[in-house]
Amino acid sequence: MHNINVQGIKFDKKSSYQQGPGLAPPLIREALHCGSMNLFAENGITIETGQITDKGDFEISEYFDIEKITGGHLEEDAKIFTLGGDHSITYPIIKALHSKHPVIDILHIDAHADLYDNYEGDKYSHACPFARIMETGGVERLVQVGIRTLNTHQIEQAEKFNVEIHPMKDLKLDAISKFKNPLYISLDIDAFDPAYAPGVSHHEPGGLTSREVIRLIQNVDAEVIGADIVEYNPNRDFQNMTAFLAAKMMKEILAKMFEK
Ligand code: MN
Ligand code: MN
Repeated sequence: MHNINVQGIKFDKKSSYQQGPGLAPPLIREALHCGSMNLFAENGITIETGQITDKGDFEISEYFDIEKITGGHLEEDAKIFTLGGDHSITYPIIKALHSKHPVIDILHIDAHADLYDNYEGDKYSHACPFARIMETGGVERLVQVGIRTLNTHQIEQAEKFNVEIHPMKDLKLDAISKFKNPLYISLDIDAFDPAYAPGVSHHEPGGLTSREVIRLIQNVDAEVIGADIVEYNPNRDFQNMTAFLAAKMMKEILAKMFEK
């Protein structure tokens, strides 16, 4: 079993529509530890172990400080798990990860492809991280699941970067083939249908069920070297139900990271 460092990145300055995800990390932890659920994932692995170290939350003023902070947590020879934050944080995290893993695959679960070349003039907007990530050249395979907002520009971007998209329309989760490289999982909470996850900035109906995403994670057969959960917006949540979903997904992903 590997050691895993957990970091909270309190940053939502790259959100195009609403602020709020910067508040998320401590609230997801609070849901996890409030006594409502135990700390076992469904595969029987507990996340109550000395092999997980919580590095705490980081208030970010400069965007690329995220890369430095993540790099510090990787130097301790651990895998990295991040609570965001808006989705812009994934690019500096992947940049830091590349110093250790030059070639990776990514499983990206989201309502949105986040492939804009720039959004309202900002190349680092939360609508752009996967364009920046593919430009690094260090991702052999980017697999996107749950997408239901493609427009002409993003279809062009997906073709340019050879992105493998599994859109909600006609979704077949069994069609995703096995990953060959070390895998990073990026889970945008708006991938879920808003019925399961009202606490997001962008309500996009017609999304994934909780069970579909859990099954997707559980069926991953690869070494997961890093992961993030992003875009939980507590300002829009209802009875903390999205915080509890994020906490459940945190358990499932951490347990998966322990498997290999
Ligand atoms: Mn996203
Ligand atoms: Mn999204």
